[in-house]
Amino acid sequence: MHSGIRCVADSYSVTVESWRPSLGSLAVLAAVFVAGLFVVGFDQGHLFSLVQGEAAFDQLFLHELTHDIRHAAGFPCH
Ligand SMILES: [Zn+2]
Repeated sequence: MHSGIRCVADSYSVTVESWRPSLGSLAVLAAVFVAGLFVVGFDQGHLFSLVQGEAAFDQLFLHELTHDIRHAAGFPCH
């Protein structure tokens, strides 16, 4: 017995693809996250000291730049 009601979904097909990120992209994302976490939460002149030397530890450029973020995020600072 045919009811006469036709499902709308019969008239076209729907393709649902599952999306999976590659391991490489997850590794890059994790590296960016860790680098950002270090810059915002823990850097006391370490990064700039690579090119600037000891003066970077007195200048604390990144620390001063991210100081408000650091406090807002609850990282220990001073
Ligand atoms: Zn502070």
